[in-house]
Amino acid sequence: MNSLFYQHLKEIIPEERILLEEPMSKHTSFRVGGPARYFVRPRNAEEISSMLHYFQLIDKEYYILGNGSNLLVSDQGYRGVIIEIGQEMDGICVDRETIICGGGALLSRVAHSALNAGLTGLEFASGIPGSIGGAVVMNAGAYGGEMKQIIKTATVVAADGTIMVLSNEELELGYRTSVLKKQPLVCVEAVLALANGDAEQIRMRMEELKDQRKKKQPLEYPSAGSTFKRPEGHFAGKLIMDAGLSGLSIGGAKVSEKHCGFIINTGNASAADIKDLIDEVIELVAQRFQVRLEPEICMLGDF
Ligand SMILES: Cc1cc2nc3c(=O)[nH]c(=O)nc-3n(C[C@H](O)[C@H](O)[C@H](O)COP(=O)(O)OP(=O)(O)OC[C@H]3O[C@@H](n4cnc5c(N)ncnc54)[C@H](O)[C@@H]3O)c2cc1C
Repeated sequence: MNSLFYQHLKEIIPEERILLEEPMSKHTSFRVGGPARYFVRPRNAEEISSMLHYFQLIDKEYYILGNGSNLLVSDQGYRGVIIEIGQEMDGICVDRETIICGGGALLSRVAHSALNAGLTGLEFASGIPGSIGGAVVMNAGAYGGEMKQIIKTATVVAADGTIMVLSNEELELGYRTSVLKKQPLVCVEAVLALANGDAEQIRMRMEELKDQRKKKQPLEYPSAGSTFKRPEGHFAGKLIMDAGLSGLSIGGAKVSEKHCGFIINTGNASAADIKDLIDEVIELVAQRFQVRLEPEICMLGDF
C-alpha cells in the first residue's frame, strides 16, 4: 500500500495501528458489515486531532466507531477511514466521587470500577454493551437512569482538530441524542460525577438489572439492542407485537419473539436483510397504527 494518503496517515498513526480492508462484522454486535478501507486505532486526543485536521484539509471521509453495539454497517462496507475509540483509549481513574474515563472504556468496566469504589449512580449502565464515547453520543440509558444524570464534562475533538471540554449542558443530552449527534465531535474522555453508596446495595442492583435483561432480552443472538426509538406515548416492542410481527424474518434477520423491539441476526443475516426487515416493520406498524417508528441504531454505508 503506497498511496500518498497512506504514507501521510502513517506519519500520524504508527503502521501497526492501521488495518486495511478490515471486516466490520468483527467490530459490530450485529456481526455483519463489509470491509473498512482504513481502520485506525488512535491512542490519544492529540493523534485524533492531527488526523482530523489532515482529513479536513484533504476532504477525507471518516467515521467514529465505539464498541459497535448500536451500529449497522452495510455489506459493501465503508471506503473512508474508521477511527476506533476503543481499547487504546480505555483508561479509568477513580478520584473520590468522580470517575475519569477514556472514550473507549466499556460502560460495564466503568460500572464495576464504581462498584469497587462504593460509588452509586452507574448501576443502570452496567449491562449496556457500549463504550463511554458511544454512551455520551447516544445519552445511553436504561431502567430510569441515563448518562445525562452523571456526566460532568466530556472532552471532545472537533472536525478541525480543536480539543475542547464541554459541560453537561453544552452536551445537549436528550432522549438517545446529544450535540455529538448533530456536530462531528469525537468524545475522547468523560468525567462522571457519582455519589458515595453502599457497595452491597450497588452490587445487588446490578445483579437485579442483569437478571431482568437476561429474562427479557434475546442476549443469546447478535443484535444492536432496541432497534427503534420509543415513540411518544407508545412502546416500539408492543406496537410491533400487536401488529403481529413477532418472528417476522427476512433472510437471517428476525424480529425477536422474546422482545419484539429487537431485530436479531439468527446466524447468517446480511446487513441488507436487517435493513429490509427494519423498513418492513416501519411500514407495517405505520399501516396498522399510524405511528411511524424511527430507528435508534446508527447506519453506515450504502443500503
Ligand atoms: C444487547 C444490547 C443491549 C443494549 N441495551 C441498551 C440500553 O439498555 N440502553 C441504551 O441506551 N442502549 C443500549 N444498547 C445500545 C448500545 O449499547 C448503546 O447505544 C451504546 O451507548 C453504544 O455505544 P458504542 O460504543 O457501542 O457505540 P457505537 O455503536 O460504536 O456507535 C454508536 C454511534 O456513536 C458514535 N460514536 C461512538 N463512539 C464515539 C465517540 N467516542 N465519539 C464520537 N462518536 C462516537 C458512532 O459514530 C455512532 O454514530 C444495547 C445494545 C445491545 C447490543
